[in-house]
Amino acid sequence: HDFEDYFLKRELLMGIYEKGFEKPSPIQEESIPIALTGRDILARAKNGTGKTAAFSIPVLEKIDTTKAEIQAMLLVPTRELALQTAQVCRELGKHTNVEVMVTTGGTSLKDDIMRLYQTIHVVVATPGRILDLSNKGVCKLHSCRILVMDEADKLLSPEFQPLIEQLISFLPEDRQIMLFSATFPVTVKQFKEKFLRKPYIINL
Ligand code: AMP
Repeated sequence: HDFEDYFLKRELLMGIYEKGFEKPSPIQEESIPIALTGRDILARAKNGTGKTAAFSIPVLEKIDTTKAEIQAMLLVPTRELALQTAQVCRELGKHTNVEVMVTTGGTSLKDDIMRLYQTIHVVVATPGRILDLSNKGVCKLHSCRILVMDEADKLLSPEFQPLIEQLISFLPEDRQIMLFSATFPVTVKQFKEKFLRKPYIINL
């Protein structure tokens, strides 16, 4: 396959090629067309396989930049991974008008609140801060139809799991969840049973 096969927006395709990607990696080949249909995904994938772009490309394609609403939330277990993931989204989306925000603990809450007064389409976050902002009513997730969970085995630790469940309660009913994990511990299996709807399983 080629990236052209997915009928992506021209501006997105430009960002993909400018990053030097010529062909989709195996995980991208599996995930992109399915994600574009709106189906839930459960993917077992290691780091270094191109999984960041595997979820970022369909997310960027699905954002309607004429709407000033958060339309996708990318949850990751650490601030460092949040910064890296946002960087990939910004690079791939360089020629789109998609606005990406990072929000994690360990930074100024006030700065995050100010930023949320502006247009944000994609939030890349660790669970604690964004739950706090959602509970305060500052971060509005009622139009956030896409949830990506990267390194889900770590996100579903006892510490994070209840926060994730509360965050999901802010999402609209017709949400799409894409879950990526290197391993499938029982916590991931239980999450799948409880929250994923007929997920497409990717096992690479
Ligand atoms: P990740 O697994 O998301 O950490 O990506 C691993 C590395 O592969 C990163 O340096 C990406 O920029 C690169 N990469 C991702 N997708 C592709 C692709 N389709 N072609 C070439 N390189 C890629």
